[in-house]
Amino acid sequence: MLSNISLLYVEDDLDVADEVAYFLRKKITTLHLAQNGEEGLELFRKFSPDVIVTDIQMPKMNGLEMIKIIHEENPGMPIIITSAFNEPEMLLKAIDVGVDAYMLKPIHLKELLVKIQKSVAPIYLSKELEKSKAELATMKKLQDTEKKLLAYKERMDYAFTGSNDGLWDWDILEDKVYLSPRWKAIIGYKEDEIRSSFSSWKKSVYPEDLILAQEEIQKVFSKEKEFYNLEYRQIHKDGHLVWVLARGIAKFDEMGNPIRMIGTHTDITDNKLKENELKEAKERLEKLSITDELTSLYNRRYFNQTIAKEINRSKRDKKSIVFLMLDVDFFKLYNDNYGHLQGDIVLTQIADVLNTFANREGDYAFRLGGEEFGIIFTSGTIQNIHKHIQKLLQSIEGLNITHAYSNASKFITASIGVAIKRHDDNITVNELYAHADKALYQAKASGRNQIKLYNQP
Ligand code: GH3
Ligand code: MG
Ligand code: MG
Repeated sequence: MLSNISLLYVEDDLDVADEVAYFLRKKITTLHLAQNGEEGLELFRKFSPDVIVTDIQMPKMNGLEMIKIIHEENPGMPIIITSAFNEPEMLLKAIDVGVDAYMLKPIHLKELLVKIQKSVAPIYLSKELEKSKAELATMKKLQDTEKKLLAYKERMDYAFTGSNDGLWDWDILEDKVYLSPRWKAIIGYKEDEIRSSFSSWKKSVYPEDLILAQEEIQKVFSKEKEFYNLEYRQIHKDGHLVWVLARGIAKFDEMGNPIRMIGTHTDITDNKLKENELKEAKERLEKLSITDELTSLYNRRYFNQTIAKEINRSKRDKKSIVFLMLDVDFFKLYNDNYGHLQGDIVLTQIADVLNTFANREGDYAFRLGGEEFGIIFTSGTIQNIHKHIQKLLQSIEGLNITHAYSNASKFITASIGVAIKRHDDNITVNELYAHADKALYQAKASGRNQIKLYNQP
């Protein structure tokens, strides 16, 4: 009982003070020592001790004067006086100022202890009472939270009966997890086939998604997010993957530590599959919309998008663009003599050559329409461009597709018009296109199976 109290001891006789203090220190942790009334008053004000033991006859301010002031400031202050003066008058005066006990010198130490104990008992008890009151309040608060959580869970349970959602309830303090039968059924387990535990959840989550889920939980714990909300995959008992939408909320104690998390699992596998199918269908459609059906090259539509984009990019990056337009020579005659179907085969063969030729990053090959093709180079050097494109012409003729009705060669050939947009040219899409077209016309006029660069002889 004494170990928790603080005591002020006022004594001017240092020998006595030493002896008593030495003894008291063994029993009382907090001991303040003063050598006269004035000092005693100062320490009383500074430390508000639980009990005061004081001498009476002292210099500066005697014990009785000090007690009087202290009692004015704190009427209930327990005070024990020690005195060598066994005089009735002194005793009366002491009773007058209201002391709790009176001890004669030489001080009987054990008796002093009993008296101290007696005088602080009420303080000790009230302190204990305060403590248990505080404990009780904390307990009640916890119980309230507990009750609220239970009510919440019941509400959730109620809200989710009839719905197809699984329920989970994680008591973080106790490290206990409740998993509802439906929660288990979503991943193919009967009630007794899987334990309601944290590790059951962990094991059920697809490993790649587990980190995501844990991060999401952490965000809720740190209050970065109010709700836990995540789609992830779980491994079904049969081994296939199940998509669930996990939602939840956390409850915190007064210190802000998470104590509980409650939430639901919704099976969204069907939705996900449909979503993926839709996504794939959309991607297929998008690809289809920019692809030429016959040759599988990019189509005219994609050419229009790309050329505009690349011209802008060339302005930004200060890079040149080469655009070449290719037209099969005497193709009408080919069709007329070998048939349209054979003509189609030729077009796909030429497309393959173009595709192989435009194989660097930033190269594009298009079928612009009919037997007309286009290529854009956005990378590489424009030096020796003529020589480079010459190889393309040779490759086409090198297919050795007999064309007995061509004036240009024994084989199928093509003519090419080339337009260049140097990085500092301010040229529009239409202008670039017109330049290539004009160059192509010149290549045709000059005998076909050849290349013409715009603005060059
Ligand atoms: P030039 O050397 O001047 O280009 O002569 P050309 O006969 O190739 O030119 P023209 O524009 O007169 O004829 C183009 C021909 O291309 C007309 C058509 O028969 C053929 N053609 C256009 N599109 C297709 C196609 O999709 N398949 C096939 N087989 N032939 C096509
Ligand atoms: Mg043509
Ligand atoms: Mg032609």
